[in-house]
Amino acid sequence: MDLEELRKVNARCIHCRACQYAYSGEPDKEGENEEYTGMLQGCPAGIYYGWEGYFNSGKQWMARAFLNGELPASKELLEITEACTTCAMCETQCPNYIDTVAVTEALRAAIIESGVEPLDKHKGMGDRVDKEEMRNPYGEPREDRTKWFSGEIDKPGTKVAFYVGCTASYRQQKIAETTASILTKLGIDFTVLSDEVCCGSPILRSGRRDVFRKVMKENLELFKDYDLLIYSCAGCYKTFRNDYPEMSGEPLPFKVIHTVELINQYLQEGKLKLDKPYGKKVTWHDPCHSIRHIGLAIEKKILAESDNWLLDSRRAEKAKLEHYEIPRQVLGAIPGLEFKEMYRIKGDSFCCGAGGGVKAQFSDFAIATSKERLKEAASTGAEVVMTSCPFCVTNLDDGINALKAEEEETGKDLSEVGSKLQVVELLELLDEML
Ligand code: SF4
Ligand code: SF4
Repeated sequence: MDLEELRKVNARCIHCRACQYAYSGEPDKEGENEEYTGMLQGCPAGIYYGWEGYFNSGKQWMARAFLNGELPASKELLEITEACTTCAMCETQCPNYIDTVAVTEALRAAIIESGVEPLDKHKGMGDRVDKEEMRNPYGEPREDRTKWFSGEIDKPGTKVAFYVGCTASYRQQKIAETTASILTKLGIDFTVLSDEVCCGSPILRSGRRDVFRKVMKENLELFKDYDLLIYSCAGCYKTFRNDYPEMSGEPLPFKVIHTVELINQYLQEGKLKLDKPYGKKVTWHDPCHSIRHIGLAIEKKILAESDNWLLDSRRAEKAKLEHYEIPRQVLGAIPGLEFKEMYRIKGDSFCCGAGGGVKAQFSDFAIATSKERLKEAASTGAEVVMTSCPFCVTNLDDGINALKAEEEETGKDLSEVGSKLQVVELLELLDEML
C-alpha cells in the first residue's frame, strides 16, 4: 500500500507511545533479573539515537505531517525514516493495531518518489539489484548465484523449490548448503533455480518500489508452476509470504514454508526424531521477519476476516502465539540442550539490528543493537545464542567481534555482555543431527 492508502491507519495513532516499550505483564517471566524486568524500551532506533523522531511514535506523526503537507520531503526526513530496522516491535505493542512498519516503509517510498535521492548505500543496493547481470544487492555476477549447489539445478519434474536468497547464495553459503543437505536427508525431491533473483526485501524496505516490483514479478513468473517454496532466510520468507500478495494484489500461486517450520512439522508428526545430544546451554534469538512479522500477519488475517472481533481476537492471539512456539518446540526436541529464554522474546523480542536496510546504511547503529541483544543473551548464562536467519547470524557475529576488539583495546573482560558467546544457526545444528 502507498502512504495515501494508509492515511486512515496512520490517523489511528494517538501518540500514546506504548510502542516504545516491550512490556511483560508476567511476574515470573523467564530471563527476568535486575536489569531485565518490567517495561523496557524496545525500539532499537529510539534507543540508539535517543530522541522522539526515531521511535515509531515520532515516525507515525512525521508520516501524518507529510501526508498533510506540513512536512516536506527532504534528505533529513529520509535519513530519520530509514534509521529503523523494520523489526515491528512497535507494531506488536500498539493497542490500536496500527501497521507501523507498513507506514514507515510507505513513508520512505513516498519521500523517494517525491524526488529525494535514496541514501547512498541504499541507492547502490537498489542499482545492483536493478542490473540484469546481477539482480542481487552484493553486486555479484548472476551466473555465480548457484555455484555453491552440488545437486541438479533447474531439475525438471520436481514441484518443490528451495528459494535460497542473496545472502545465503553469495555470503553465507554454509546456510544454503546446510538447508539443501537437510532437505535431501528428509527425502524431499527439490531443486534450485538458476534464474532466481533477489526477493527484493532490502529494496522494498528502503523505498525503491520500482525495482522491487521488477524482481517480484520475475520471481512470481519463475516459480509459478511450483507447489511449494522452502526458505532458510527469514527476510526472503517474510517478503514472499507477506509482501508479495500485498504488493501484487494476488495470492501466492504456491505454498511457502521456512525450513525450521518444516522440521517442526516432521517432529510433531513423529516422522523425525533427534537422537544426538547437544550438551550446551542455549538461548534463542527470534528473527523478527520469520517470527514476529509472520505471527502478526497470522493474527491480522484472522481479524480481517472476522465478523466477531471479541471471539476472533482470542483465536488470532492463540494462532500468533503458536507460531512463536515453533523454534522452541524444535529446540525442545534436541536431547541434552539446556534452554534458557532471554527476557524480551517472541512478540517482544529485541531485534539483532540488521534489518530494514540498516546494516548497509547505518553500520554503527546495527552493531550497537547487536551488542544490546548480546548483552541480554549473556545475562541468561548461555554459551550459545541460537537463531535461524543469515542476516541475524552475520550481525550477531559482527557484534561479538566488536566486543572482542574492545577487549583487546581496553584489556577489559566483556564476557558478561557477550564477548564469549557463540552464534549458531539452528539449521546447521539440525543438519549435524540428522
Ligand atoms: S503507533 Fe500505536 S502505540 Fe505507537 S504512539 Fe501511535 S497509537 Fe500509540
Ligand atoms: S520497526 Fe523496530 S526500529 Fe523501527 S520504529 Fe518500530 S521498534 Fe523501532
